[in-house]
Amino acid sequence: LMQLSVPLNFIGFIYREIRQGLTDIEQMFDLLDVSQEVTDKPDAKALVVGTGRVEFRDVHFAYDPNRQILKGVSFEVPAGKTVAIVGPSGAGKSTISRLLFRFYDIQQGAILIDGQDIRDVSQQSLRGAIGMVPQDTVLFNDTIAYNIRYGRVNADEEDVRKAAELAQISGFIQRLPDGYKAMVGERGLKLSGGEKQRVAIARTILKAPPILMLDEATSALDTQTEQEIQSALDLVSKGRTTLVIAHRLSTVISADEIIVLADGGIAERGTHADLLAQGGLYASMWDRQREATEAEERLRQAREGD
Ligand code: ATP
Repeated sequence: LMQLSVPLNFIGFIYREIRQGLTDIEQMFDLLDVSQEVTDKPDAKALVVGTGRVEFRDVHFAYDPNRQILKGVSFEVPAGKTVAIVGPSGAGKSTISRLLFRFYDIQQGAILIDGQDIRDVSQQSLRGAIGMVPQDTVLFNDTIAYNIRYGRVNADEEDVRKAAELAQISGFIQRLPDGYKAMVGERGLKLSGGEKQRVAIARTILKAPPILMLDEATSALDTQTEQEIQSALDLVSKGRTTLVIAHRLSTVISADEIIVLADGGIAERGTHADLLAQGGLYASMWDRQREATEAEERLRQAREGD
């Protein structure tokens, strides 16, 4: 069996390398595509961020004219509050985050930040005001310090360390032989999904944006990592206007409002307790997820018992 497992591992390694390469190319094309589609108005001004209130007002959007993704979605993220978007796969959750960044223009309605339509302001000022912790962070083939400092290039070493501490990644870095000078990415060490996400959180802490967007990882993390990431996220989002795109439900319990997106519209909205009490779509999604988690837990215990 050992003889077989080595080549299999190797094939797995090659597969992952190729897939990563393709992902990077896809992302590059996405960016190229986007820059053609959205342009600044000739008189575009810089966004003036006050408290950082975000509003989606009757937003209609389709990538392809034949298939409407959002059919009149309205919600508000009051300054300093957290709103979570949940819903079935493909409902348009990540689309909402792309629209706030204005990677695409909407067909009807408006997206406003502190009352300013995002189509009227420069893209640079808009994107500068929003911090993004993406599902999968792209790391540069450079040191881990460089990758964190990317959030604010003139940050000094002390700030980088503090950000890493708040993001709960400093212990991991200190255990590396080269510490903050350790190379990551292509030619260096590969970080796990949870570690990458914490690097992204550290970047965002350095950037200190008034508005925060969290695109939660789709893949399940182990309970300990998930808790560490959750407490790091709680720290960054405190007092900041935060929009959480939740693919799992564990992180939304404490949100000020949860919006359930389905069939292009808002099916339900309220706090976690409100929505459970309603016994609708959210409640059934919650039940299903809890069953899945419990099944996983039983499986793990059975394995450990072996
Ligand atoms: P998940 O939880 O599975 O990540 P989601 O709710 O975030 O799903 P979106 O990524 O917003 O879903 O996608 C909404 C719909 O839009 C999907 O049906 C998807 O296939 C489609 N879509 C997403 N991106 C594009 C694109 N660039 N061009 C065309 N269609 C797209």
